[in-house]
Amino acid sequence: MSEDPAERKMRFLYALRSKGVTDGRVLTAMETVDRGAFVTGIFAERAYDDMPLPIACGQTISQPSVVALMTQALAVTPRDKVLEVGTGSGYQAAILAQLARRVYTIDRHRRLVREAEKLFHQMGLANITTLVGDGSYGLPDQAPFDRIIVTAAAEDPPGPLLAQLRIGGIMVLPVGQSDTVQSLIKVTRTPQGYDYDELRPVRFVPLVEGLATD
Ligand code: SAH
Repeated sequence: MSEDPAERKMRFLYALRSKGVTDGRVLTAMETVDRGAFVTGIFAERAYDDMPLPIACGQTISQPSVVALMTQALAVTPRDKVLEVGTGSGYQAAILAQLARRVYTIDRHRRLVREAEKLFHQMGLANITTLVGDGSYGLPDQAPFDRIIVTAAAEDPPGPLLAQLRIGGIMVLPVGQSDTVQSLIKVTRTPQGYDYDELRPVRFVPLVEGLATD
């Protein structure tokens, strides 16, 4: 069914608001970045629906409202250096790039990183650095980070990521056993340690060890 682009955008933003996305900067970022560019093939026509969709390498692009709620919980400021673990399609990184000073995004699939990189270049998003690797070890060379977002589920927050969070920094990630119920949590590093807030149930692909073969 064809819908005119303005109407489609209204519907897209309405879905986000109705799921609790209230931060104006996040809504503007979601309005600016065209999710349609990150979804290809037979699922392209569903790009503006509030649902996760399959992408290459057996992975998924997250549901737009989950992307927006995670971004909102991360409370990104224009001075922040952000690490994203799990580039996937690159959509979440493109949203973060609207709000942060610099975004580092890492994925274990070379192919996904290469394709996301191409899109960032086409969109003129010059403040994103892409890397191929196992993101559970973080990026010690670039640490500490003001914000860290993990878009794949681990049983517990990976130790290296906790260590690479700046004091006062925030990390948002899904935790729990893969394919059962996972919780989105927000970790805030304080001078004394870490505070944990449970935000909502979610379902993400698992955080997997090591590099993928493609
Ligand atoms: N943020 C993405 C969705 C990510 S799907 C988007 O906006 O489209 C989760 C991604 O995490 C997958 O691409 C998967 O390859 C990646 N991943 C899983 N384990 C990883 C690890 N240890 N290091 C880096 N990336 C990982």
